[in-house]
Amino acid sequence: MSEWEKLIPKPRSRFIRVKCPDCGNEQLLFSHASNVVKCNVCGAVLAEPTGGKAEIKGEIVAVLE
Ligand SMILES: [Zn+2]
Repeated sequence: MSEWEKLIPKPRSRFIRVKCPDCGNEQLLFSHASNVVKCNVCGAVLAEPTGGKAEIKGEIVAVLE
């Protein structure tokens, strides 16, 4: 690791509770999910991996440390 990299704080990963925009189901998922996360109830995509922080499709209702 270079000196430069040490100065940049790593993005913090955490669990977030997301509300499905289609059915309202609330589901816990990882903020840096590396796979597509789908709603357990209706199958709507709730998060898509982007290589870093996942792109959240639904409404974030809570963030857990
Ligand atoms: Zn749903």
